[in-house]
Amino acid sequence: MIYPWGDNRRFNSYSNYFTKQFGGRVQKISIDAGFSCPNRDGKISTGGCTFCSNEAFNPSYCRPEKSIKQQIEEGIEFHQRRYRRANKYLAYFQPFSNTYKPLEELKNIYQQALEGMSYQPTQPIDSSRTASARNDMGREALETPRIIGIVIGTRPDLVDEPLMQYLNEIQKTHYVMLEYGVESVYDETLKRVNRGHDFATAEKAIRMTTDYGIPCGAHFIFGLPGESKTMMLDAADTISRLPLTTVKFHQLQIFKGTLMAKEYLENPEHFHLFDLEEYIDFVIDFAERLNPNIVIERFAGEVPPRYLVSEPWMKLRYDEVLAKIEKRMEERKTWQGRIYQGII
Ligand code: SF4
Repeated sequence: MIYPWGDNRRFNSYSNYFTKQFGGRVQKISIDAGFSCPNRDGKISTGGCTFCSNEAFNPSYCRPEKSIKQQIEEGIEFHQRRYRRANKYLAYFQPFSNTYKPLEELKNIYQQALEGMSYQPTQPIDSSRTASARNDMGREALETPRIIGIVIGTRPDLVDEPLMQYLNEIQKTHYVMLEYGVESVYDETLKRVNRGHDFATAEKAIRMTTDYGIPCGAHFIFGLPGESKTMMLDAADTISRLPLTTVKFHQLQIFKGTLMAKEYLENPEHFHLFDLEEYIDFVIDFAERLNPNIVIERFAGEVPPRYLVSEPWMKLRYDEVLAKIEKRMEERKTWQGRIYQGII
């Protein structure tokens, strides 16, 4: 069966989105450009979000002491070893709040990534790799790897019209996406995890972004303290009404050294951590209610196990979790948006 998004996978996948946009696989390269966060530096608070551990998400090549160009080059080499078929890349400004500087400085930083447009490998691609790539992908795999745009991760309270105008300009020649940490649609949850903004702020930022014609992504966490499963499932209807291009979902993972880890170790009864089977069925129930136009970039998180204090299944690789989700969707004969109530 071919679903409304144009392929036979049971959800609107990120790989399908990029294939439609760019004709092939696109890989994100994380860049740490040395941004900070107002929820940590005292402007909003000093504690940060109680779950926050940026270090757990930073790949090894991604360090602010390296230039953006160097991070791009090392990131491309890293991904070329892992994903042989990718030759188009997005510079992904990921850790902390990547719009938290004056606009002129932001322009300079983003421009450095966009100027890393074409990249020559420091070592020749080995012949077996080239041969299999040639079989797999024809000419595309032999093209020079290159950066085709930027993805900017930030807080929804750190964007404004002048930034949107600038991003709208550069997206005439490059792909640009803004990705917001929203985490929950419930203000009481946002307050409880010391997020420092409410849901209305997130909604306003998302609408402003899409009003400027800029693709917009959002990140949500399932399992934050105080949210029941019913509340989490009901969030699918709220999220479905937002003009989002992509969403990322993460099961709550509790990282060592965070305020949440302290709370968890002191009062584990305040938390409901999903076990794997329960989570798989939960995200499928959620996806059934989700607007099928919204691309699901991730269903679950994956971080190196050494950072975690929480359940063992969260040490599984994302590919393994995704395969289980897709298999279960097949068994349940269901798909994203199957019971979505809105307009497609
Ligand atoms: S806004 Fe992001 S970087 Fe800042 S404390 Fe929260 S999770 Fe961490």
